[in-house]
Amino acid sequence: MEREDRPRHFRTTVTHAGRPPRSEHAFVNTPLHRGSTVLFPDIAMREAFRGKALEQALVYGAQGGPTHHALENVVAAIEGGTRSQIVSTGVAAVTTAMLSYLGNGDHCLVPDSVYGPTRRFCDTIARAMGIETTYYPACLPAADVERLMTPRTRVVFAESPGSHTMEMQDISMLAQMAHAGGARLILDNTWGLHFFQPFEHGVDCSVQAATKYIAGHSDVMLGAITVATDDDWERVRRTALTLGHYASPDDCWLALRGARTLAIRLQAHMQSGLQVAEWLSGRPEIAAVLHPGLEGAPGHDIWKRDFTGACGLFTVAFDAAYGPDDVDAFADALELFGIGASWGGFESLVLPTSASITRTAGPLPHPGVLCRFHVGLEEPADLIADLERGFASLSMKSTA
Ligand SMILES: *Cc1c(COP(=O)(O)O)cnc(C)c1O
Repeated sequence: MEREDRPRHFRTTVTHAGRPPRSEHAFVNTPLHRGSTVLFPDIAMREAFRGKALEQALVYGAQGGPTHHALENVVAAIEGGTRSQIVSTGVAAVTTAMLSYLGNGDHCLVPDSVYGPTRRFCDTIARAMGIETTYYPACLPAADVERLMTPRTRVVFAESPGSHTMEMQDISMLAQMAHAGGARLILDNTWGLHFFQPFEHGVDCSVQAATKYIAGHSDVMLGAITVATDDDWERVRRTALTLGHYASPDDCWLALRGARTLAIRLQAHMQSGLQVAEWLSGRPEIAAVLHPGLEGAPGHDIWKRDFTGACGLFTVAFDAAYGPDDVDAFADALELFGIGASWGGFESLVLPTSASITRTAGPLPHPGVLCRFHVGLEEPADLIADLERGFASLSMKSTA
């Protein structure tokens, strides 16, 4: 018998969640189940299963099979929710979550620091559907965000820290405000995986790009939408099924493998990330290190209050003396940090990001050229030596 009443630590949760019960004669990890047609022994049983769209039942391939169900349970356990819907990408998780609550004539509030493709959805398909978006500065005080709420506001969207610029948001405050105005709070919790427990802070619907740390090996695209009430589950589940969302069971199986080592990977990403960020903060070429876990960094107070740790993703702002070409040359000179988007894999990455940032509700918070790092599982001393090589390729022209 599983003893679900016992409090579990994260390392234990990711090792045991989503596995067959102890009473079952089974493989340790749920095997890969592929399939479209499900055969029923008789019509009566098939009819009985038609009403089970909200359950983890074998009804039809698109409604998920055992491999999906196992991953759903792992993600729900990590996020601290009750049910999770797996979809094909993180972007699909964002758009499905929004469409679960928004329709023609509705309004949503979205932080100006939101992940670029989320903004693209709001500005194109959502707008064409008659869903209006107002972008708010990510760190706007509660009272000022509240003034942007209208009677038609159904969703307050949040992402903390924000993509590229790492603004920290007061999620509990936003949740209170959203609920007071009759709206739901959707959080893109990809950065905060495990370290931020969304449902303890009033979030109604939490989105994960499982592509990142859950899969963890840069070889899978997946998204997950997690909720904590039956009403939220019904909205999300029915929207996902209506839109025809699905994820390959092969990818879910890989993500399940990845998830088993998530706790120790996240621990290593955090420690190495902080070490590299701290080292970078002592470099004269760097004007600011935007890592919420770093003492004195923007949003560190919120991080310290609400988070139990940090992943390996952060941004630096170069000193104003360095232009985009300098930062490109710096990135090109690195050998261990690969140049590329996405993150959460085992490898370190670097990406100059200034050119890909859009702001419509205010100016960029940092004047220098921005560069994002993902600190992987390499030895931090080797990564620091690599960064030293990158800086050496720049001629010294710091104004600091
Ligand atoms: C990567 C990312 C996504 C999208 O995930 P994909 O699986 O690449 O579609 C969504 N939100 C955030 C914050 C991300 O970093």
